[in-house]
Amino acid sequence: MPEGIEVEYYRQTALRALNRKIKAIETIDHKYLSDTCSPADFRDLLIGNYFTKAGRKGKLLILSVSNECELGLRFGMTGRLLIDGSSPIKVLEYSSSKDNSNWVRLSIKFQDGGSLSIKDPRRLGAAQINPDLCSLGTDLYEITALSLSEALKHSTRPIKARLMDQSKISGLGNLLTDEILWRSSIDPRRQSNSLSHNDMRRLLRHTTRTISELTNLGGSHMGKLQNHRVPGGLCPKDGVPLNRYKIGGRTTYSCPQHQK
Ligand SMILES: [Zn+2]
Repeated sequence: MPEGIEVEYYRQTALRALNRKIKAIETIDHKYLSDTCSPADFRDLLIGNYFTKAGRKGKLLILSVSNECELGLRFGMTGRLLIDGSSPIKVLEYSSSKDNSNWVRLSIKFQDGGSLSIKDPRRLGAAQINPDLCSLGTDLYEITALSLSEALKHSTRPIKARLMDQSKISGLGNLLTDEILWRSSIDPRRQSNSLSHNDMRRLLRHTTRTISELTNLGGSHMGKLQNHRVPGGLCPKDGVPLNRYKIGGRTTYSCPQHQK
C-alpha cells in the first residue's frame, strides 16, 4: 500500500496542483531520483513551469508538465501525497500516522505559496522524469476478461504473484489481491494457468467488484478479510483458521476451507 486505489485518490487530489507556477523545489531526496537525473536536473526541468494534467497508470501518478515532460511519482509502501499540506488518505496500511518532517522526500513550492509534497517514512518511492509507461500492464480500473486471461494463461507462477506483477496488471497490491482471491474462492498459490473458464469468470467478477467497492469505501484496506489478516485470524466466511504464508515476499492470508 498505497495500491492503485490510493494512487487514484492521489490523482484526484493532484488536480488541485494544476496550473500553478512552480517556484522552487524545496526538498528532493536524491534517493528518490534515478542515476540519470541529478537534483539540479530535476530543478531545471520543473522550476518556472506548471503541471497541466494529472494522470495515473497502476500505482504510478503521472503529472504532465507545461514543458512537455512528465513527472512520474511512485509511492512505494508508505508514501503519502500532500497538496497544500493535506492528504486525501488518513489511514495508510504499513505506514505511520505520525508526522515527522524528516519523512519529506519531495517538496515542490508553488508561486502562490502552496505546495505538493511526498512524505514517505520507508523511502521506497521515486520521482522520475518521463517514466516508462510501456512496462506497465493493464490498469486495475480497466481489467477485462481478455486482459485477465492474457495475464494468467501462460504462467505457472502462483496466481497471486501474477496478479501483483505490475507488467501484467498494474495497480493491484498485497491487500487487494488477498481480498479478491478470498472473495473468488481461489487459493493464491494455485498455478495461474490452472484456472477453468468458470474460475476466470468468477475471478473477473470479483476483481472488478472489489476494486469498485473498496474505491467507494475509502481504500484497499476496507475489504472484508482485512480485520482477519492477523496471526490466528479466522475466515469471516466460514470461521476456519486462515493460513498465513509468503508469496513473492509478501505476507498472504487465505482460507484452507473455501479457497481452492
Ligand atoms: Zn473460508
